[in-house]
Amino acid sequence: MGHVTESGSIYADGPRGSACLPRESGGVRRKILHFLRVPPFSTPTHTMPLSHSRAELAPLSPSGSMRIAVLGSTGSVGVNTLEVIAGSHGRFVPFLLAANRSTKALFQQAHACRPAWVVVVDPAAASEVSASDLPAGTRLAVGPEALDDLVQSPEVDRVVSAIVGAAGLRSTWAALEAGKTVALANKETLVMAGPLVMRLAERCGGTIVPVDSEHSAIHQALRAGMPSEVARIVLTASGGPFRERSRESLASVTPQEALKHPTWSMGPKITIDSATMMNKALELIEARWLFGVPAEKLGVLVHPQSIVHSMVEFVDGSVVAQLSPPDMKLPIQYALSYPERFAGVARRFDFSTATRLDFEPPDPVRFPAVRLGHEAAARGGTCGAVLNAANEAAVRGFLDGQLRFTDITEVCARVLDEHPFQPDPSLDDVRRLDGWARQEVVQWACV
Ligand code: NAD
Ligand code: MG
Repeated sequence: MGHVTESGSIYADGPRGSACLPRESGGVRRKILHFLRVPPFSTPTHTMPLSHSRAELAPLSPSGSMRIAVLGSTGSVGVNTLEVIAGSHGRFVPFLLAANRSTKALFQQAHACRPAWVVVVDPAAASEVSASDLPAGTRLAVGPEALDDLVQSPEVDRVVSAIVGAAGLRSTWAALEAGKTVALANKETLVMAGPLVMRLAERCGGTIVPVDSEHSAIHQALRAGMPSEVARIVLTASGGPFRERSRESLASVTPQEALKHPTWSMGPKITIDSATMMNKALELIEARWLFGVPAEKLGVLVHPQSIVHSMVEFVDGSVVAQLSPPDMKLPIQYALSYPERFAGVARRFDFSTATRLDFEPPDPVRFPAVRLGHEAAARGGTCGAVLNAANEAAVRGFLDGQLRFTDITEVCARVLDEHPFQPDPSLDDVRRLDGWARQEVVQWACV
């Protein structure tokens, strides 16, 4: 179920105005070791490294622990990440915690887990707190530039990118620019600028390991074969709270109803995205760039139990799926420990009880967002950035009572249709169209 932060914002600390986008250049620190790269779908010669000696893995702190930067630590993924770290028996230690405005929760987290740094990204929120309220040994930094610099520090071994929305692109970019391994929850990074981000990672020796449960499942399933042997990738979707609602009744859905997810407990923005199934649209685009797979090989199946997190079908017809209870702690831990596994704190399957697994195709009439995602993934270029920005603005409009639930996808389709498409945009183009799409939605909501 979605949550409301202590600041009262239903969008957590999420973006309200224009997106923060990454710096174009500067301070590239290359890592000597390249490891953990997901094989690009289109490169048949590449094989996934299946065994690694400890020495090949991340450079660890003198104590042997992996030092983690948790961006968006006060959010749903952030809180789960801290539980994974706490249950890791010292394998992981928090180096940095960052949040936007939820300083009370952030400072509580600092007292509980004693990171070296705490970053308050919003300067106005930072002006209301004092570094003297932090525990001894924890320092305070303020603003997005400070976060970029700290994320690039040699003392950071792995970065959890769990800021919500377009705002997450900037720090993810900084981390990849410094050659870091990023446990990526912020799907918007790849939706907006997938080709640019993947090229940056390639150039700077950075690596992305997905946290999104579907992409984590695909990442795991892909280890069963060669990229050239993959026939199809099927992302599963819970179907959200309105899976069985009639088309007519969807127009009158309230934010309170839409914030009640049947199987996952997540932040408010992604919970609304799950209800419209726009989350699956964004995930199709995310998968397209992350795995380098053409859109026509990507499919979606509704699976209400949220146990099968996604599947890969190989050319011989074998389908490899990843199953576990719906608990983000598992994909978070996988992204931090990959290529190793250990017994952590994620919930486990109870094989002694009867379990049903149902699958059905998504209804394109009641949930047109999935088709929109397919089209945007196939067309590429500026489509992801425009769809993402339009959706963020439309979700805001819905939560503020200016748009109906069904308007969200409709306005996204309209803005996507009308936008000045560019096939190979720069980061500046992405930034400009992000702002343009938000404006279009605001104007649409006002007429
Ligand atoms: P959330 O709303 O619960 O938390 C958002 C976090 O981001 C908070 O810590 C907030 O302080 C921080 N934040 C917001 N705006 C910021 C800004 N401008 N600068 C810096 N920090 C900012 O969100 P969530 O549900 O944890 O989702 C985080 C990301 O992970 C999203 O991109 C979401 O799509 C993705 N994701 C979430 C889940 C889930 O289970 N919640 C699953 C898969 C993917
Ligand atoms: Mg997901």
